[in-house]
Amino acid sequence: MKIKDLKFKKLITAGTIEERVTALAAQIDQDYKKKSPILLPILNGSFMFAADLMKHLILPCRVSFVKISSYAGTASTGQLKTLIGHDESLFNQDVLIIEDIVDTGLTLQKIMADLRSLGTKSVEAVSLLRKMPAREKKIDVKYIGFDLEHEFVVGYGMDYDGLGRNLKDIYKQLEN
Ligand code: 5GP
Repeated sequence: MKIKDLKFKKLITAGTIEERVTALAAQIDQDYKKKSPILLPILNGSFMFAADLMKHLILPCRVSFVKISSYAGTASTGQLKTLIGHDESLFNQDVLIIEDIVDTGLTLQKIMADLRSLGTKSVEAVSLLRKMPAREKKIDVKYIGFDLEHEFVVGYGMDYDGLGRNLKDIYKQLEN
């Protein structure tokens, strides 16, 4: 599979993703019993994961989208820009951030710190994927779908230069 100048190979199939997402939802339902959290998907990358995860949740929950960008091409720029803030009042709420992938953890750490300063009751995160740097730095992510090494991935909401988000499987970049 090719997107622009890069070649990709299938890494995680749609079926495997579905199984893992269902299990994550069951765990979240269990942990948030008698609570009514606000889910905060970080756009754009997490839109597909967030939709699938929410379809499997039974607990009463709200959703509010946040848009942040820190990536240009395939490498983190290390700079964060909040493009759309959350509109719901988060004071005294249980907030669950939904991320597609945690790489350096920079994005997530910044969002979690910001949310905690708003007087939230609790702030946790669920990420479909976690890369090696986040694992090594022990970045605070309560729920994780799959662990990766350093590979650059596309599909299931994640892009390369805006393309590939529509793919239902997850692909990893092949060395050229
Ligand atoms: P971090 O701040 O943890 O380094 O980067 C997190 C964000 O970078 C993710 O939410 C995601 O949007 C983007 N990102 C990190 N690794 C990848 C990757 O392999 N593929 C894609 N498409 N985006 C990535």
